[in-house]
Amino acid sequence: MLPSVALVGRPNVGKSTLFNALTRSRDALVHDEPGVTRDRHYGVCRPDGQRAFVVVDTGGIAGEDQGLAGATARQARAAAEEADLVLFVVDGREGVSALDEEILAWLRKSGRPMLLVVNKTDGLDSRAALAEFARFGVADAHAVSASHRQGIGSLLEEIQGRLPEEGAAEVLDEDPDRIRVAFVGRPNVGKSTLVNRILGEERMIASDVPGTTRDSIAVDLERDGRKYRLIDTAGLRRKSRVEAAVEKFSIIKTLQAIEECQVAVILLDASEGVTEQDASVLGAVLDAGRALVIAINKWDGLSSYQREQTEALLSRRLAFVPWAESVRISALHGSGLRELFRAIHRAHASATRTFSTAEVTRALEIAYESSPPPAVRGHAPKLRFAHPGGANPPTFVVHGSRLRTLPDSYTRYLENFFRKRFKLVGTPVRFVFKEGE
Ligand code: GDP
Ligand code: GDP
Repeated sequence: MLPSVALVGRPNVGKSTLFNALTRSRDALVHDEPGVTRDRHYGVCRPDGQRAFVVVDTGGIAGEDQGLAGATARQARAAAEEADLVLFVVDGREGVSALDEEILAWLRKSGRPMLLVVNKTDGLDSRAALAEFARFGVADAHAVSASHRQGIGSLLEEIQGRLPEEGAAEVLDEDPDRIRVAFVGRPNVGKSTLVNRILGEERMIASDVPGTTRDSIAVDLERDGRKYRLIDTAGLRRKSRVEAAVEKFSIIKTLQAIEECQVAVILLDASEGVTEQDASVLGAVLDAGRALVIAINKWDGLSSYQREQTEALLSRRLAFVPWAESVRISALHGSGLRELFRAIHRAHASATRTFSTAEVTRALEIAYESSPPPAVRGHAPKLRFAHPGGANPPTFVVHGSRLRTLPDSYTRYLENFFRKRFKLVGTPVRFVFKEGE
């Protein structure tokens, strides 16, 4: 399970700056997809070679119990209580404030594991800055400068050491023929209706995955002779009536499910188009590099005129993921499910396909010869050879020279070329460029 780390502190101590420092993708080659709204408050930190985790910026805990500040503070507290580790962020320039003391007292009461982060220590003596907060009696304190990215590496190491052990849930450890699928989407798009429909039809061969029964975080099933594992979403947990009422949309659980699946099926409500919340779930799938199928649910509720309008609207709003297949379904009536599973299958096959160095280099040569990249100040980038760099998503490592001057449009050209040549659908494709041999 992807663990979660919450940033807690009063306003202006630098929580959102630290959030950006932790979650900003340092891979400059994965360009931002236009049309995706990132959720400001949730992100995934993927440190090189270390365990990824969700970062939650809880917003400011301002102390007043009235009005908006009160509501924000309540939300922040709820997020902190859900987290595996809390980073209590304070301002090393301003020193201890009364509000810090209040927040600390509350954190102690909540009993969450905690790390003190003294921020804004750029240009300060960090030992003196830490000493200022020594009276908090928090054993693990770190001096950082979020805006200058100082101390972030050692903070990351400390975080790694404090994350809970990887769970015993055998979500990942299994049969390579079994496709891991997560049904994700905002509340009310029809996730539970769909999952119940699928499991209802297949009740005889669906079974909880051993070790995961407490929350039923995964269920195995067979359908048309193929094996699937459904990874936890809000829809998968058996809703008792009470549970359904209190169950809230958990972005952390959604991010965890996305991380563990191979194919994410995002459900949209046909009558509502693509809302901002839909777009941020979509953005999380793209960030994670997962294969994607778009299920446009509640298709039964539309007149033929509305269907036409909806088709036009969705094709505009989803133009930034042209490679994703979309399927019209009705979870309520069970229509479109065969087509949905076919799309899941195609996406999985593309995402996990293996390549030889020879076929990848050959593809690069043909793409390069039929359209070489433009020269910048009289020198054109040269692409020499390529090799496969991993699956899920398919990654191609391209070697050459002057690759820094390759325009984004050329990367898109290569991507489209490779997609066509290797018939890749339903999965993102990544390129990594390496200067020299
Ligand atoms: P938040 O309200 O806790 O999310 O705080 P912000 O991240 O919005 O930061 C508040 C202010 O502090 C902004 O003006 C930031 O530029 C500044 N700030 C954040 N981190 C640092 C830092 O490490 N050093 C310095 N000098 N300023 C910082
Ligand atoms: P979840 O929050 O995403 O799990 O959504 P639910 O499965 O609880 O569905 C929310 C509402 O949409 C319920 O009232 C469902 O009956 C309704 N619903 C779900 N799927 C469909 C569908 O295909 N067609 C119609 N008309 N309604 C649906």
